[in-house]
Amino acid sequence: MSTSGDALGLLRTRGEAFLRDVSREYYSSHAGLKPSAEPQPIYERHREAFGDESLEIAMALLTGAKAGSEERRSGRMLVEWLIESRVGRELAPLEEREIAWEGEAVVRLADGSAEPYRRASITIANTRDAKERRALDDARAALVASGLAPMRQERLAREKEFVEKMAVAPSYLDTFDALSGMRIRLLRDECRAFLRDTQAMWDDVLPEFLKRGLGISPAEATRADAVALMRAPEFDGGFPADAMEREIRRQVTEMGASPDAGGRVRYDTGDRPGKRPRAFCAPVVIPDEVYLVIRPHGGQTDWQTLLHELGHALHFANIDMSLPFEFRWLGDNSITESYAMLFDHRVKDRGWLGRYTQLGAQDLPRYLRAAGFEELQFIRRYCAKLIYEVELYGGAVSWSALPDVYVETLSGATGFKYQRADAFVDVDPHFYSARYLRAWQLQALLAESLTNRFNDDWWRNPAAGPWIVRELFAQGQRELAGEQAHRVAGKRLSFAPLVSSIERLLT
Ligand SMILES: [Zn+2]
Repeated sequence: MSTSGDALGLLRTRGEAFLRDVSREYYSSHAGLKPSAEPQPIYERHREAFGDESLEIAMALLTGAKAGSEERRSGRMLVEWLIESRVGRELAPLEEREIAWEGEAVVRLADGSAEPYRRASITIANTRDAKERRALDDARAALVASGLAPMRQERLAREKEFVEKMAVAPSYLDTFDALSGMRIRLLRDECRAFLRDTQAMWDDVLPEFLKRGLGISPAEATRADAVALMRAPEFDGGFPADAMEREIRRQVTEMGASPDAGGRVRYDTGDRPGKRPRAFCAPVVIPDEVYLVIRPHGGQTDWQTLLHELGHALHFANIDMSLPFEFRWLGDNSITESYAMLFDHRVKDRGWLGRYTQLGAQDLPRYLRAAGFEELQFIRRYCAKLIYEVELYGGAVSWSALPDVYVETLSGATGFKYQRADAFVDVDPHFYSARYLRAWQLQALLAESLTNRFNDDWWRNPAAGPWIVRELFAQGQRELAGEQAHRVAGKRLSFAPLVSSIERLLT
């Protein structure tokens, strides 16, 4: 083996050891097994993993390897990950400051009542009185504007500056393109077209759902109302908590796959103090030790959440272990998000709902229509987020003008009036919103392709599971989402199949 080969081997070994420790630390603390996460000693112990020497090796691979080669692919992923890790370490004190603020902040209302900041969004969603809901959201926004927003703005500005100083490409957007393999401005243009193409459909359904769900009109609707509308518990009875894990395991088994990947996925579904309310999947050793952690609250959202995390978990637990570190641990997260969405979209699938849930036949048409409305709302919101985030990182708009651009873009796309205070808080770091959008598109093509191969009820066809494991999960994240769409479906990624599926749900 050559010297550079040895150096690359060492970089991979160090990188994997570092990520295993980080992942185990977050799993333990988020699952409530230890009081808090302490990542600093891990960063310290593994500092060589993302040190200068590692970056030099990865950069040499990226710039030295032939275009289109596997070496170039590895180099791109390794450099992307190393820069992200270095940004993370550099900005860790700012992040800790924000977490401390969030833990202590209290929203105070004119009537003297108070609400911890972290609980405010849950209370807003559950407040049925529109005036009360908006007053709480206005108080929350005022608090964010004076405290969290300036800290977030500073972190975003420093991140942009840090990445541009690395001089991989002329700008933040070009660096993202070069390292992610995506073309962010093209996706932005697709988002604009999607918003245009679905505008009439949206104008058509929004007033109906606002009136039925909240008794309000589009002219007065705010982001707080959107949150309350999406929380509708109307169909929760069809999704009983005690049947959830059993029915979902049954479906995966009927599909011819192991619901725990032969014991490599560990379900952590019990309740314990300190466990985060939000579900997550932690791959501690890929593919041998993957945790799926959920703290159930009951209802439809839980089923959707468990399916989503199970899509991630079965992906990680079925990755071919002979693949190099970067194809198992790094790469385009649109891939794993698309598997998660392929699973969670079963709660929008008529046949699946009929077989595994207790939703009555008389409720199905109304439920599916609501699911179509929800899907359209979320995609329109994510399209607007991406359009705005390209402005934010693009540098053509000044920081002081961004809040107005945010309100205009998000309110325009969704029909809900957004708050200026959230312009730097409602941002997915490193364009993660682009991964979700690509995942949405890829998931639609995967479902179409599975239907062509294994029929409408592919999710209970015993040949489908082995195909999914072999052709999708086992490949890790070696491919870009667009490459996989081409290999599996012979098509380009686009919003077209999503538009059709939303139209079907809304009819
Ligand atoms: Zn996910």
